[in-house]
Amino acid sequence: MHQDRIMPYDVLPANAPAESEKKTDPAEVETRASEIGKCNEGYRCIFCNKIYSRKYGLRIHIRTHTGYKPLTCKVCEHRFGDPSNLNKHVRLHVTDDSRYKCDICGKVLVRRRDLERHKNSWHSEKNDGNVSDVGVNGAT
Ligand SMILES: [Zn+2]
Ligand SMILES: [Zn+2]
Ligand SMILES: [Zn+2]
Repeated sequence: MHQDRIMPYDVLPANAPAESEKKTDPAEVETRASEIGKCNEGYRCIFCNKIYSRKYGLRIHIRTHTGYKPLTCKVCEHRFGDPSNLNKHVRLHVTDDSRYKCDICGKVLVRRRDLERHKNSWHSEKNDGNVSDVGVNGAT
């Protein structure tokens, strides 16, 4: 009943997560932790044991523990650690009037009104089943 396993924490300098008094460079923590976390199944987060198949995925995940946010939205300067979150966020700033995408079937319409009409005719409960976009709402 003794612990002879080396815990990952023993390998990291001080306490890696953000509260550390010493200024640990979060980028460094990320690099070290993703190296230490390598295991047979993939890459294990040393903080919460979650397994990632790719080192990159783990690195991004580790940012949720360190609070490391190296990415910045160019529009509003909001900071992000996860590139996919940044991408999602950046899209919110894009007001592209020429494209409206149906979030149900993915069809892209040219105008917002077309999208509304598309949704009304194809995805509204009223027209469930026998759906036709001919004649719905008539001509506008
Ligand atoms: Zn984790
Ligand atoms: Zn932004
Ligand atoms: Zn649709």
